[in-house]
Amino acid sequence: MSQNGSYIRIDNVSRRYGSVRALDSVSLDIAKEEFIAILGPSGSGKSTLLRLIAGLDRPTEGLIHFEGKDVTDLPPHKRGIGMVFQEFLLFPHRTVRENLAFPLRMRKEPAGVIEERLEWVAGVLSLTMLLDRYPSQLSGGQQQRVALGRGLVARPTLLLLDEPLANLDRELRQEMEIEIRRYQKQLGIPFIYVTHNQEEALSMSDRIAVIDNGRLEALGERQAIYDHPQTPFVARFVGKSSRFQGNVEADGTTVRLPRYDYAFALPAGSGFQPGTAVDIFVKNERFDLVTKVEGGNGIACTVADVVLRGPFLEYVLETDRGDTVIAVKPKRNDPLPVQERVFLSWNPADCHVFKAES
Ligand code: ADP
Repeated sequence: MSQNGSYIRIDNVSRRYGSVRALDSVSLDIAKEEFIAILGPSGSGKSTLLRLIAGLDRPTEGLIHFEGKDVTDLPPHKRGIGMVFQEFLLFPHRTVRENLAFPLRMRKEPAGVIEERLEWVAGVLSLTMLLDRYPSQLSGGQQQRVALGRGLVARPTLLLLDEPLANLDRELRQEMEIEIRRYQKQLGIPFIYVTHNQEEALSMSDRIAVIDNGRLEALGERQAIYDHPQTPFVARFVGKSSRFQGNVEADGTTVRLPRYDYAFALPAGSGFQPGTAVDIFVKNERFDLVTKVEGGNGIACTVADVVLRGPFLEYVLETDRGDTVIAVKPKRNDPLPVQERVFLSWNPADCHVFKAES
């Protein structure tokens, strides 16, 4: 552990490919026993960051420390890391046992060590009964566990995961999310999990690092990233939300939506100058939806469709200006009917307001 308590320290790391800044001055401290998700859209620099941590690539600038030791120039096999990829990369003509043992054989570990590690990893991942099967005789989830096992079998001090669930169907993915988080807590080593899928990042991680365009856009506990986005990008990218345009009135606290007959008060201390053009983000599940409003203060809409999503109803609303807004509500027995006239509004504490991007 380094003197400041970080187990892994990414210190001002950049990686350029010619004129492309794949990663731009990223700094990140990761604690031991932490599950951190690197979340960003395609091309944002996630894999580049993972490759740098793994030692498969070198930064153009900046340093990487593991447990206080500079590993920037250390080759991958000396870093004590395990990796799991999107493709399971299992050898089809080898049994689970042989697949799991492969990284150890590459390292020329003695037979006794291999046996002991195999027993350990098969126990952790509930693979003991499957050791003599071939990959084709396994379900998708079991194959994924073998791929995970291969990443863990050498007892790494850190596991890197690159979109390992991308090829699984939704139900299995959700099961694996819970399992992977459980393994991480059980093993007590950091997991760094790269994904473009916000649901995975939110379901598994302790903290989320959001990256966009090679830059660290936000870093925080998952609940804070979801509930209190600090930038418009995070507000747009994490959770499902709608965006509205507004203007701060002369009193400096009221925001009026010019497109609609709707105004709301900013939370105290928002600090916008009168006249500022703002973007307002409201998560789909945060809308208030009523059939009557006092004083007419609400965005008038018509229910265009009602979609049943398990325990939730998704109201597809068409505003009188012809925009579509989705509002999510818990399922009830008497959903608002299609064609019903409704008014949208929100509690000011439930929206996120930023100076408009020009
Ligand atoms: P992500 O994993 O988030 O999809 P990447 O880290 O793969 O993003 O890529 C980040 C940026 O760097 C992209 O613009 C990509 O085109 C560029 N890039 C990645 N690897 C190379 C390379 N070897 N040569 C040139 N550009 C690259």
